[in-house]
Amino acid sequence: MTIDALYPPLINGEFKAATAETFPAVNAATGEHLADLTASGQAEIDAAVAAALAAFPAWSRTPAAQRARLLLKVADWLEDNTDRLVQIDALDIGRTVFELPQDYRQAIGQYRFFAAAIMTHDGWTNSVQGGWALAKREPLGVVGQIIPWNVPAIMVSFKLAPALAAGNTVVLKPDENASLSTMELAKHLAEIFPPGVVNVVPGFGETAGAALTALPDVAKLAFTGSTEVGRLIAHAGASRLVPVTLELGGKSPNIVFLDIDDIDAVVDNTTFAATFCNGQSCLAGTRLFVHSDIYQDFLSRLTTAFRAIRVGSPLDPATRLGCLVSPAQGERVTSYIESGRAEANLVTGGGRVEVPGNEAGWFIEPTIFETSNDTRIAQEEIFGPVLSVIRWTDFDTMIEQANDVEYGLASGIYTSNLRNAMRTADRLQAGNVWVNQYVNLADGSPFGGYKNSGLGREVCKETLDMYTQLKSIMLAEQVPAPFYV
Ligand code: ADP
Repeated sequence: MTIDALYPPLINGEFKAATAETFPAVNAATGEHLADLTASGQAEIDAAVAAALAAFPAWSRTPAAQRARLLLKVADWLEDNTDRLVQIDALDIGRTVFELPQDYRQAIGQYRFFAAAIMTHDGWTNSVQGGWALAKREPLGVVGQIIPWNVPAIMVSFKLAPALAAGNTVVLKPDENASLSTMELAKHLAEIFPPGVVNVVPGFGETAGAALTALPDVAKLAFTGSTEVGRLIAHAGASRLVPVTLELGGKSPNIVFLDIDDIDAVVDNTTFAATFCNGQSCLAGTRLFVHSDIYQDFLSRLTTAFRAIRVGSPLDPATRLGCLVSPAQGERVTSYIESGRAEANLVTGGGRVEVPGNEAGWFIEPTIFETSNDTRIAQEEIFGPVLSVIRWTDFDTMIEQANDVEYGLASGIYTSNLRNAMRTADRLQAGNVWVNQYVNLADGSPFGGYKNSGLGREVCKETLDMYTQLKSIMLAEQVPAPFYV
């Protein structure tokens, strides 16, 4: 597996930068220098948006079947290169080689899904008095897309696949902590798409990201990341009246009823919900509501499950929890654990783990706190393997607490009773509800947040509506008299 020494931006089909300014990609576990990337500035963003604007007329008129064919090539290339890209991500962001292949399966599915979905994303035609009415879907233009570091392959696919399928051109800014696999993909994108259709500009949020959101030629913004930055993106969109899709933070409730059939299966699922992606997921099930009558038994099995999670080198196939993405993230998670020690009962974990040969990495023990819903650790997004367990007795009170956070992205329900499942699903303020499972973003199922978790939906055919606008065309059979005559 090779990593280039320098990754310049992909602009208009070429890899070159105006600036010599770079920033390093660092091995999250060892601190070793992996590569340098261009720190794109105003000049690169201007050039990328200009290239995307110039490419738009031809790309928007390219038949949908041809656009779909190119997306299918991206999927095939990802399938052929998954092993190599998994290694790169594991080095770059510290997630495990065990878990990362699933990111690629999800990403591959997205390119294939939107290649198919665009073929049926039609407008309509109707006969009307004296003529015909047509509603035609048209792409928006240049789309500016900004993504976070936790699941790079998935994030790129959620953004590129619908935008390109719909006939838009794109300027994508990957996250400064996780750009390598995206820049490797960019080399392939440069080979298959016409110049300017996809531009990829590595760089920092406050410079490259902010510049991208401010340019008047950008016709839509799509962002995944923190709620705080999401608000800035929404302001940028509002000031120019361009549509914005936002997928932001989460603090998802995972609810265990008394009537579960198989307690160990639910323990495994709720453990996974809180610790997959090392807890660095907006979807993580970080507030676990367990019914009082099974609480002690459940908590004791959950504690055993958390302690059994193998923490270690991201490159070791036996590892189930790698390290956090960066020292900054390590310090953030640790400070939440400190706050939890003061306000809640630490059940297990809480410490930093030393992994020989990986001393620079922030490996955190899977951590459980017993708490009420109003503590800081139960209210704020931590983005680490830290679970808040909350005991519940009364259904209405539990639902009130489950909804009593600023976010509303995902949720889980474990019960063998259909009525419990459906009345809970109805009342949860969350864009995604999973029953007797957690994290199933099947291609085509809408994904997005209520409340401060975002605006718009991804992964589904409705996403194509958000990357297009409707034009109404009325045709008269012959020129009629104006209606006011
Ligand atoms: P996280 O907390 O997950 O790091 P952020 O919201 O800080 O999430 O970052 C997500 C993405 O937003 C990254 O690509 C980052 O570079 C970008 N970003 C950060 N600040 C800004 C900004 N002011 N304008 C535009 N993009 C930004």
